[in-house]
Amino acid sequence: MAALNLARLIAAAANTIAAHAEELTALDQAIGDGDHGLNMKRGFEAVRAEAEAFSVKPLPDALKAIGTKLVMTVGGASGPLFGTLFLALGKEISAAPDRANLTAAFGKAIGAVAARGKSQIGQKTMLDVLQPVHDALLQGRTAPEIADIADAAAEATVPMKALRGRASFLGDRSIGHMDAGARSTALLVRTIVETLEGQP
Ligand code: ADP
Ligand code: MG
Repeated sequence: MAALNLARLIAAAANTIAAHAEELTALDQAIGDGDHGLNMKRGFEAVRAEAEAFSVKPLPDALKAIGTKLVMTVGGASGPLFGTLFLALGKEISAAPDRANLTAAFGKAIGAVAARGKSQIGQKTMLDVLQPVHDALLQGRTAPEIADIADAAAEATVPMKALRGRASFLGDRSIGHMDAGARSTALLVRTIVETLEGQP
């Protein structure tokens, strides 16, 4: 894995979320309360504002700082969950991770999200993207494959019935729409793997 340019990753992630905020809002409007785009944009702009300070920290500390910032700024149900993902990743990852360490740390971070959300795969949430991405990492998939797997996994939430989060209040009426958090997760996965891939 190329040495990590965290400032560049943060900028890329914040750009992606900003570019897709309306789409995320529209998805959340269909089966939620329509705030996911704004929530994510607020959070990632707050992280962007501190990108320089974060990126001089050792990677574990930087990830924990990002997680804390997301918890404080995203709001909604997704804020504590995305925050937990980065906080747990920061706790588990080494300062110069190889793929094996990254994969193991990511697996534990997903476990922390599931514990925090009392959720599991198949319930039409961000976990339905996170878990297939972890599987893909374990299988040694390439970066473009991982990005495509994340997109397909978000797409696969369309026929699911929501069993967690606000969309679960709709019961069967949640079927036929993509989960907003699954989509934002897939967007972030693609951005991160493509940015890492493109690094010298
Ligand atoms: P809120 O639902 O409070 O309005 P957001 O709209 O920002 O918060 O985020 C909604 C997303 O959060 C959902 O699309 C789903 O992916 C994710 N989510 C909600 N509850 C859970 C949970 N218990 N476990 C995992 N993910 C969840
Ligand atoms: Mg919402």
